Amino acid sequence: MASGVQIHYYKVCKRKLWLFSKGIGMEEEHERVIEGKILHERAYPRLDEREILIDDTFKLDALEDEYVREIKISSKMAEADRFQMLYYLYELKKRGIHKKGLISYTKERKTEEVVLTEEDEQKIEKALKDVYQILQCPSPPPLKKLSYCPKCAYYEFCYALEGDE
Ligand code: SF4
Repeated sequence: MASGVQIHYYKVCKRKLWLFSKGIGMEEEHERVIEGKILHERAYPRLDEREILIDDTFKLDALEDEYVREIKISSKMAEADRFQMLYYLYELKKRGIHKKGLISYTKERKTEEVVLTEEDEQKIEKALKDVYQILQCPSPPPLKKLSYCPKCAYYEFCYALEGDE
């Protein structure tokens, strides 16, 4: 079973997914994950079920009535954020829990609703197969230059290697 972060990285960059999953350059990436955790704690101080752990690996920020809630700093990664939320909804549905998602963006002060469709479920199933295959590979997928790269925790790692070629 993939984690929500892995599904997010799958959408952002498959190389990043591989590097993160193999524990490469974890420290800097970890700092970003911790930043996200602090943001969640500030956002949901009164929710008893602020963070819900399912099957020891699957972590949700908050469950509130009919919604799973996630909070993000900005909507720069909106597509990946949406896909991650769809994955949560998919996993919950498999356990008989039917929810919708709400993603709140603090910078833009907006909230997006996410509803899981059958088509989305098929996309998630395909993504899970892809993630499995990517992680079976002995080396990471090749570097693909993305506009996101300079902000990525693996930037120096990826581009230093490129310079050596
Ligand atoms: S620097 Fe670019 S290619 Fe390398 S892991 Fe990050 S997003 Fe992917």
